[in-house]
Amino acid sequence: MMHFPKSTNEPESITRWKSENDAFVEDPDRSTRGKFEKLKRDTDLQKILLNEQGHLCAYCNRAISDVSSSDESYLVVDHLLPLKDGPLDYHNLVASCKGGAVLGQSIPPANKHCDAKKKNNTLHIDLRPTLPGCEKVLRFEDDGHVVAVGKDRKLLKQQINDFLNLNEAGLVMKREAVLREVIDQIAKAQVSKDELIEDYLAIESRLSENGTQPSRHLRAFAGVVLNYLRNP
Ligand SMILES: [Zn+2]
Repeated sequence: MMHFPKSTNEPESITRWKSENDAFVEDPDRSTRGKFEKLKRDTDLQKILLNEQGHLCAYCNRAISDVSSSDESYLVVDHLLPLKDGPLDYHNLVASCKGGAVLGQSIPPANKHCDAKKKNNTLHIDLRPTLPGCEKVLRFEDDGHVVAVGKDRKLLKQQINDFLNLNEAGLVMKREAVLREVIDQIAKAQVSKDELIEDYLAIESRLSENGTQPSRHLRAFAGVVLNYLRNP
């Protein structure tokens, strides 16, 4: 888990939506919640979320993109606290990967993770990527598995596995590959730990698909590597 602070500026589409639905925002009925759900398709909102998360999934830190396709790396806007009773607010929205879901294919439950697995579950406050501290309750092992640490670790472990499925086989393999590379680089003294930390914290600006607006990218699994390097 990596901490992705929310920018203080609310996206324009949400401000507009709030002013149009003013009477319902504080105590929304089902239909208002349904209308808010449609905002998830707003491409400007999607870009803002991607940029504040450096184009990484809020939960597993895989690289995600805003290019609409059947590819599983495409983003999904997720309500951190479930839509059915959470606040209708930008601070409750994050960009998630599709969690193994590929358009037109059925995925075994064991391979679903992130948004596809979380559904209406409410994550423990320490596991919410928009709040500081979330990066401290997980530890990544050399073989790519993730474990919970700290006083609530039993509950956190259950949520990591049952709500997010962060130990899904494919994710574990990808994390192991990234961590092995990091371990190798350090062992061969190609790079120091501090240099690697700087590297993974650095945000790279790249031109977006249409070649105009630059977008901010972190390296894939940045949160995992940073966590690993800081917890020897
Ligand atoms: Zn993910």
